Amino acid sequence: MARHRDAVCRLCRREGVKLFLKGLRCFTDKCAIERRNFVPGQHGQSRRPKMQGYGIQLREKQKAKRTYGLLERQFRNYFEKAERAKGPTGENLIVMLERRLDSAVYRMGLAGSRAQARQMVNHGHVRVNARKVNIPSFQISVGDEISLKETMLQNTMVMEARNVSQSLNMVPWMEIDRDAGKAKVIALPKRENVQTPSINEQLIVELYSK
Ligand code: SF4
Repeated sequence: MARHRDAVCRLCRREGVKLFLKGLRCFTDKCAIERRNFVPGQHGQSRRPKMQGYGIQLREKQKAKRTYGLLERQFRNYFEKAERAKGPTGENLIVMLERRLDSAVYRMGLAGSRAQARQMVNHGHVRVNARKVNIPSFQISVGDEISLKETMLQNTMVMEARNVSQSLNMVPWMEIDRDAGKAKVIALPKRENVQTPSINEQLIVELYSK
């Protein structure tokens, strides 16, 4: 599957916020936002240009797209589906992104980043209702039981992610047992429960509605 191949910290620096794309490093003072919070590139150290209208909307869309690790076409497809679904488009969009299996594994605290979670899904380490699912975009539903292959519980990357995630808030739409590497989906994600990243989805709707 196509994906972004450039250094991911540049994406955070471009948006000027932490997008938590690099696992444990994001929680240390090695984070590039902590050390070099300016736009990457030759003129990056000059003042961030003042944006308005289209510029602000574009940056918000880029922020959301990069947070969930999607390319433009994939993100646009989500938007079109969100538009066709019942309810406010922006909220539908965020909920659909959170319902992705890779995002759910990340929220379970078993991966340091969505990219790591996606790799675990791609490599067949994740089960949904005891069946292997290797499609990161798989949409979780209420009642689904997500679990990690037992051998993965001893994986260094998973153990490190679990340690860090102990201090993070659990999401209210899953009953999570991090030690057992399992979670049960007890509700669909609600917009008000998705606090990170802070995205103003209305700006994305305005951008795509032009
Ligand atoms: Fe890099 Fe993570 Fe910091 Fe973003 S939040 S700049 S991905 S270390």
